[in-house]
Amino acid sequence: MTKEILIYAEVTKSGYVHPVFFTLAAKAQELAQKLDDAIISALIITSKGKTETVKEGFVKCGFDKVYAFEDERFGNYNTELFSSCAIELVNEIHPEIFLIGATTQGRDLGPRISSSLHTGLTADCIELDINEKGMLAATRPTFGGKLMATILCKNHPQMATVRPGVFKPLEQDVIRNTEIIYKNITSVVTPKVELIDFIKGLEDELNDLDSAEIIVSGGKGMKNAEGFKLIESLAKALNGAVGASRGAVEMGLADHKMQIGQTGKTVSPKLYIACGISGAIQHTVGMDSSKRIIAINTDENAPIFDIADIGYVGDAFEIIPQLIDKLSQKTD
Ligand SMILES: Cc1cc2nc3c(=O)[nH]c(=O)nc-3n(C[C@H](O)[C@H](O)[C@H](O)COP(=O)(O)OP(=O)(O)OC[C@H]3O[C@@H](n4cnc5c(N)ncnc54)[C@H](O)[C@@H]3O)c2cc1C
Repeated sequence: MTKEILIYAEVTKSGYVHPVFFTLAAKAQELAQKLDDAIISALIITSKGKTETVKEGFVKCGFDKVYAFEDERFGNYNTELFSSCAIELVNEIHPEIFLIGATTQGRDLGPRISSSLHTGLTADCIELDINEKGMLAATRPTFGGKLMATILCKNHPQMATVRPGVFKPLEQDVIRNTEIIYKNITSVVTPKVELIDFIKGLEDELNDLDSAEIIVSGGKGMKNAEGFKLIESLAKALNGAVGASRGAVEMGLADHKMQIGQTGKTVSPKLYIACGISGAIQHTVGMDSSKRIIAINTDENAPIFDIADIGYVGDAFEIIPQLIDKLSQKTD
């Protein structure tokens, strides 16, 4: 029997499918080949008519099928409703593997589904593979990031949530004749929680590391709050987001949600500018898939230069103001 890999397509508040879905779609192509050409399908739960507007993404990313639950009640995320749709679908189609992005929503949805289905879920993975027995081998950091553990799930579906940014989207379209199958939720779900309003934190809105094309990150080398302000100013001048090393977070210069690396976020922007960051492996695992990397560091032997496309050996306190100045001249 042909196996099936199911991927959850999260629709964001802004109405687009979350970028992590497209990275999972690319990884699924690789996994499907190792699973005797398994079919790849998506699950979307959204308001009426939405699936059609995002269909092109499924077609270009090699999806054989899309299971769409559409209802006005699905305009806003609700744990009970969304998990019920997913559970009903899994019980009907019995996918071999079920992948979900480790976004805020995915981290809420995944465990509820897996516990209801009495299956296992490897959370917050950074690598996926198929082992010699045809099982999903899901790797994630453990013991506070000191070890990498590869975990197998004995039950079905084999579930995993995957960090945004760890895989790259497809470089070339894989066009499929995608079939959209509309589904209705059959179980009666009366949510215990009602969403009254959605207010996005201004800070998060301005600093969305998951979707930023340019990230300027500061490390311990930025020394103090005034120094870190330079990072924020450069990010602003480039219309980018602000990231940080753990060194900077531990010094209280940045919030933990801005931390990039093994125990922080994984990002892959078009441009990553590392300022006063040494380039410890625990930091670079979270950003080394960025398209272009610029590093500014006083130490010419800093490991960050090994992965940088452009390196400035020098004082960030002198270089950053000059960059900001040049950028403002360009826009004047
Ligand atoms: C289990 C575990 C998990 C971890 N997870 C993470 C993680 O998720 N993310 C992370 O970042 N780290 C993580 N770390 C910590 C990591 O090992 C490093 O300690 C940390 O990344 C160092 O931060 P830094 O580069 O800012 O500081 P440092 O290593 O101290 O580097 C500061 C750099 O600034 C340069 N500098 C100084 N002054 C200037 C100046 N004026 N201008 C320009 N450059 C200057 C210095 O030459 C130096 O290279 C983890 C560690 C462990 C053990």
